[in-house]
Amino acid sequence: MTSVQTQAPAGICMGLPQPVQDLMWGADSLPDARAQRELTAAAVKLCEMCPLQADCLALGIATHDQFGVMGGLPVRARQQLQRLAEEAGVRFAPGDPDPRGALARWLRENPEVVRQARDRENERSRARHRSSAERQRRWRAVHLAPDSGTARQTG
Ligand code: SF4
Repeated sequence: MTSVQTQAPAGICMGLPQPVQDLMWGADSLPDARAQRELTAAAVKLCEMCPLQADCLALGIATHDQFGVMGGLPVRARQQLQRLAEEAGVRFAPGDPDPRGALARWLRENPEVVRQARDRENERSRARHRSSAERQRRWRAVHLAPDSGTARQTG
């Protein structure tokens, strides 16, 4: 490590114990889906305040990391950003000079692209929750209605 590297800002997540980092930023692992959603949402908020956000996003995109939240965005949103960066001519293939740096610079110069990716992801997430709540409501209406002949049938 050079002195310049050691003076670089630390990511917010790095101040948390590793098991907490894994729960918040790693692949979904909690059986309680709501608790997992809340932890992930907290991770995203911390990423949005993190001085390393663009570098972290660039790392996640350039290494094709397939899990969790990096730079505040899940894998699908990172893939969208990758496509947009490629369309914009950003060179971040492994053989390119400074691939992650080029991508991080492009992300910093285009905050609206990151914001749009996040907004799309939030909308998808809300739609998923709405549809899950609707499925649960229908299931309860069919299986738990007091006058339902099918209540608690086991087959
Ligand atoms: S942007 Fe990266 S380094 Fe910063 S808190 Fe999020 S995951 Fe950690």
